[in-house]
Amino acid sequence: MRKYPLEKYRNIGIIAHIDAGKTTVSERILFYTGTSYKIGEVHEGAAVMDWMEQERERGITITAAATTCFWAPSYIEEGEENKHRINLIDTPGHIDFTVEVKRSLRILDGAVVVFDGVAGVEPQSETNWRYADDYKVPRICFINKIDRIGASFEKSFKSIIERLTPNAVAIQLPIGNESEFEGVIDLIKMKAFRFEGEHGEKIVSYDIPEKLMEQAIQMRSILVEKVVENDEELLNDYLTMIEEQSAAEGQSKKKEIGEDDLKRVLRKATLNNNLVPVLCGSALKNKGVQLILDAVIDYLPSPVDLPPVKGINLKNESEVERRPEDGEPFSALAFKIAADPFVGSLTYFRVYSGVLKRGSYILNAVKENQERAGRILRMHANEREEVEEVYTGDICALVGLKDTTTGDTLCDVENPIILEKIVFPEPVISQRISPKTKADQEKMGLALRRLMEEDPTFRVSGDLETGDTIISGMGELHLDVLVERMRREFVVDANVGRPQVAYKETIQETSKAEGKYIRQSGGRGQYGHVWLKVVPLESGKGFIFIDAIKGGVIPKEFISAVEKGVKESMSKGMVAGYPLIDMEVTLYDGSFHDVDSSEIAFKIAASIALQEAVKNAKPVILEPIMKLQVIIPSDFLGDVAGNLSSRRGRIDSISDRDNIKVIDSMVPLSEMFGYATHLRSMTQGRGVFTMEFSNYERVPKNVESAIIEGKK
Ligand code: GDP
Repeated sequence: MRKYPLEKYRNIGIIAHIDAGKTTVSERILFYTGTSYKIGEVHEGAAVMDWMEQERERGITITAAATTCFWAPSYIEEGEENKHRINLIDTPGHIDFTVEVKRSLRILDGAVVVFDGVAGVEPQSETNWRYADDYKVPRICFINKIDRIGASFEKSFKSIIERLTPNAVAIQLPIGNESEFEGVIDLIKMKAFRFEGEHGEKIVSYDIPEKLMEQAIQMRSILVEKVVENDEELLNDYLTMIEEQSAAEGQSKKKEIGEDDLKRVLRKATLNNNLVPVLCGSALKNKGVQLILDAVIDYLPSPVDLPPVKGINLKNESEVERRPEDGEPFSALAFKIAADPFVGSLTYFRVYSGVLKRGSYILNAVKENQERAGRILRMHANEREEVEEVYTGDICALVGLKDTTTGDTLCDVENPIILEKIVFPEPVISQRISPKTKADQEKMGLALRRLMEEDPTFRVSGDLETGDTIISGMGELHLDVLVERMRREFVVDANVGRPQVAYKETIQETSKAEGKYIRQSGGRGQYGHVWLKVVPLESGKGFIFIDAIKGGVIPKEFISAVEKGVKESMSKGMVAGYPLIDMEVTLYDGSFHDVDSSEIAFKIAASIALQEAVKNAKPVILEPIMKLQVIIPSDFLGDVAGNLSSRRGRIDSISDRDNIKVIDSMVPLSEMFGYATHLRSMTQGRGVFTMEFSNYERVPKNVESAIIEGKK
């Protein structure tokens, strides 16, 4: 039996720019909810959520660990019946780990976005905010570090309104600032709160200080106005109230919209992404974190607030829905595979419908094979609990699944469904990697394979056995981290080459070609014969194979061999040997021989035809283009912009923010190696940038020549 009703579940993530305080906030949450008994300081490397050694060293969170904790809102009795189950899904802040953010956004229902109260909105917060928009994730904001010198709630709040959403609405105000920061005013209750005790665990409510009263009244009326707009009845009440008040000016005591109404409608508006409540505090100084938890419960969705998940019924390819109910057939999404030192591999999954019992069989609908749910674990920050049964809304981990990768749907064997996949970007950077010793060589293949299973944006190509191997990923740091993990977790030492841009090739015109592989002199012969047509596709469309054979001129059993041959030759393009993308290949004619035809003969014929067709279709090299945002003090604008142009950058816009300039541009990745160092020296260390993959574009002729000659 389920212990916590589904309405009392919150599956949430904490999203933040690196250093905004996500780890500290998560850790305080685990402390106040009683999951962790110790408050570790991040800089001492004791934070519970950052459980990977390497994350501690780098001070960044790489892995999205899911942790369960419980909270009864601080404003009601702490009874078992008031407790909510909060599954906290950790997300990384660094841009090279965008994939982790994306995959966690796919499975969480709501998010707390943490900001640094000095810096306000930072570039990465913008990127992650847009992703959260894509997934329609309801959010609340927490402006952290109000205790820091230079912190400003007003400025940070304004930056949220201006740069992220006009729907942000303050539901709190800080009392004091910087070292004087003492607590927060709750604008809904119109009460002040202080946090006493060694770790701020005691919440003390008091009257709003006189000097802040006026500001609080003003902010509350903005809040009320924004909220009532979302409910017709409340809006009418409000308008009537205003009329009555102005008629009876100064005579009667002012009426107010009640706390319950405000909360109810604010919840509704937050769930619909029409409003984003904004809170503030200092996680480090233990001020305001419990009120984040209250707000998570008050304003973020439970699984029942969400529409049913959609998927494809494997039996008849029709679209089907699963309601978030235990009575529905089981469906879940595997969102993370993690190598685990104790139990091998852990598959984190989120249950969208139904119930899963330990020991039962489930279907991996994507791989179309069955797996046994041998052991199910619920992850707490510092312990794992074996569970017999998991229910709709749960986030748990399965031990030892054999053939499940990130993004696969797990479901009831009798009711196969494929939930919408998580789409991951293609890697843009690669490095040659070779084992240091013979012993390393044996282990390297296994290690790389494991890491690839975990991380869908990490690819390995080349020959794993001989050790002549290329690894590819989303950025320099991404690959660094993986090589480092290989060393630590799998004890494999390797030499890595210079990072190289993952160029691709494509065609610009349509063309047709014939491929023949015929050997018929004595003994059993070979006979394969095809005609292929190649057509360029729009950027990002990938590869499409069309079988247009009529009248059995090539028998069915050889068609897949043709497709295989095509795919194999597409892995090496005609211009400089980079993989071909964005093209459609149609097999439309050919012939066969009753005795001599074989799969291998058709495969070879297909590859001959493909190479010929591509040669005649004006092939070109493509390069990854990155979206770059650079933030610098105004004085350095000329130098930095000039330097971007010399890196073949195209500046889209330059905007002002206080005393700084924000340059948005598109730049080829190949020109960006070492940019961090260069920017630092150009700006006396004051410039910062973020960069993410945007699209592939054709390289200019002179660069193409350099690439072909191996100079780039
Ligand atoms: P993350 O990178 O977002 O996980 O950020 P961390 O939680 O690791 O915090 C980054 C740094 O900011 C650490 O040195 C923290 O001690 C510090 N920090 C976190 N919260 C606060 C806060 O509320 N006030 C101050 N002054 N520092 C904080």
